[in-house]
Amino acid sequence: HKITIAIDGFSSTGKSTVARQLAKHLGYIYVDSGAMYRAVTLYAMNQQFIDDNQFDVNALVTNLHHVTIHFEFNRETGNADVYLNGKNVEKQIRTLEVSNCVSRVAAVPEVRYQLVKQQQQMGKEKGVVMDGRDIGTVVFPHAELKIFMTASAETRAQRRYDELINRGDKVNFNEVLHNIQERDYIDSHRADSPLVKAEDAIEIDNSNLTLDQQFQKVLNLVTM
Ligand code: C5P
Repeated sequence: HKITIAIDGFSSTGKSTVARQLAKHLGYIYVDSGAMYRAVTLYAMNQQFIDDNQFDVNALVTNLHHVTIHFEFNRETGNADVYLNGKNVEKQIRTLEVSNCVSRVAAVPEVRYQLVKQQQQMGKEKGVVMDGRDIGTVVFPHAELKIFMTASAETRAQRRYDELINRGDKVNFNEVLHNIQERDYIDSHRADSPLVKAEDAIEIDNSNLTLDQQFQKVLNLVTM
């Protein structure tokens, strides 16, 4: 029988990689909840509600009903792309500029309320792997399997740095490390649904695991 799998943890711990592998292997649906927060952030940036120096929370909240997010399967990559108001923004939401604003947007209760409702709707049928920060605690508190991923900040920054460089983005290691540390701090200190390990989540530190070792470890938990 199919179950619900929640994968949470700090930024760039490899949650989405393992979640995607798992969903493919099990024939489940994979939902990247972070992509939804990133899409709302891109909207706020496009409207100039937010940048590095200011954030007009009221303007975002007032206009939130203009924001529609959905996923569509991409035949070329075999993954689901995120769409903002009908436009594919999969590539645009992965920049360091969006990463620098997203945790402030994700701390707004109205934003969380709207996205959590949509995520719960997407997970109504079993057979879903969802990754994020509050999946095991808020979105699916009754998920049959909860995993909490960790890795050292340097390991995570190196992975994210390699990813951005591979895309052709011009970034330096220190700004990537700084962004990860800042997001960790904001995500775990916000008033609404802070990032915490669910009591019944199984913690996996993957600092010294290969992708394959990590996948086997998680798969064993599913079939246990
Ligand atoms: O997973 P990803 O790094 O793409 O998420 C981007 C940001 O979105 C996180 O740093 C966090 O601020 C926010 N987020 C969240 N709750 C989730 C998923 C992401 O607050 N379930």
